[in-house]
Amino acid sequence: MPLPKINSSEEAIKLEDQHGAHNYHPLPAVLSRGEGVHVWDVEGNKYYDFLSAYSAVNQGHCHPKIVGAMHEQASKLALTSRAFHNDVLGAYEKYATDYFGFDKLLPMNTGAEAVETAIKIARKWAYERKGVKETEAEIIVCENNFHGRTTTVISFSNDEDARRNFGPYTPGFTKIPYDDTEALEEAIKANPNVAGFLVEPIQGEAGVYVPTDDFIQKAKDICSKHNVLFMADEIQTGIGRTGGLLAVCGHCTCENHCERQETYTKPDILILGKALSGGNYPVSAVLADNEVMDVIQPGQHGSTFGGNPVAAAVAVAALDVIKDEHLTQNARRMGKLFRRLMDDYIRESNIVNLVRGRGLLNAIVINDSPESTTAWDICMALKENGLLAKPTHGNIIRFAPPLVMNEEQLRDCVNIITSTLKQFEK
Ligand SMILES: *Cc1c(COP(=O)(O)O)cnc(C)c1O
Repeated sequence: MPLPKINSSEEAIKLEDQHGAHNYHPLPAVLSRGEGVHVWDVEGNKYYDFLSAYSAVNQGHCHPKIVGAMHEQASKLALTSRAFHNDVLGAYEKYATDYFGFDKLLPMNTGAEAVETAIKIARKWAYERKGVKETEAEIIVCENNFHGRTTTVISFSNDEDARRNFGPYTPGFTKIPYDDTEALEEAIKANPNVAGFLVEPIQGEAGVYVPTDDFIQKAKDICSKHNVLFMADEIQTGIGRTGGLLAVCGHCTCENHCERQETYTKPDILILGKALSGGNYPVSAVLADNEVMDVIQPGQHGSTFGGNPVAAAVAVAALDVIKDEHLTQNARRMGKLFRRLMDDYIRESNIVNLVRGRGLLNAIVINDSPESTTAWDICMALKENGLLAKPTHGNIIRFAPPLVMNEEQLRDCVNIITSTLKQFEK
């Protein structure tokens, strides 16, 4: 059966509403095409994409190099499962481990799966290397974390919507406040069975909370001192988004590839997803050095699709684009400009309290209660004015365009954003 032709946004939304589970509340934009920093809806209206599929589309929509790699590999060999080898996986693993500076990579598909993988590795490491008694391993996480939607991952969320009525919950997690190294050290000292500390270097979903400058390095030092794995979830922050190759690169200003000298904090376990494929295909990965990764042996973990040749080819192309087009440096430059221009506006504004972020992962906080619809209404007005963004946690709006945005486009976007916000000034 050919797909029915969708003639209007209304029609498409109605179909989803009737036949799809209601697990999202999207802005009513029905997109049918994308290119670079732009997307188009079925009526032909053009928008700037200021979400980038939650930072998956860092390389811009439908990047020809990534699409080309995907197309070429898909028409040659798409899936073998890991019962056999394929001729792309090893080359990808070498490329990616060199690129990020780790011994080994474990390939998965979605971000949540990669987080699950990291948790399994950390627990196994605790039992087999640290000498923790089996079933006693503990992983420390932060309040307001977002690490995905699986049963284990939502077990340590404190978002009521994400958790309520999905129990019983997986045990073995301790929550501490974000950006609080004292709490981290206390929690580690209080329990000899701590395997790892799982943390987002910037909390994206929570509303782009940037921790104090030395938080990441201090947290890593505490982990090292107590033989605890420092596990960085860079699914949203990684791969150029925050103006470093990774957010754990801190304020390092080296070229993205990356002498790793100035302020780089190397995680014991690095979790990647989203932009690892430029948003073209579900590709995620866990990276670690041998002493950690080698606790996983045949039969102990896997995925039918993980490490498939299309994913491998797409990931190499997506990482190439980041490097070749200097997108990390561009994110850093454009991000600075964005916050400066927004700050100029906010000084005169009574509807926006502040802008925060790093690189092109930014958010504004609206001067209204989180229960109000103001942020949603602003996003609807932004849509009318040609720019797509989504509120998070009520009164916060995240701004995360593809990293291929140039200065002229960015200034155009700031004009759209500020003139829209002016309609909402009190
Ligand atoms: C998006 C995200 C995830 C989950 O990734 P999925 O591909 O949606 O499963 C995990 N951690 C962080 C920080 C994320 O932003």
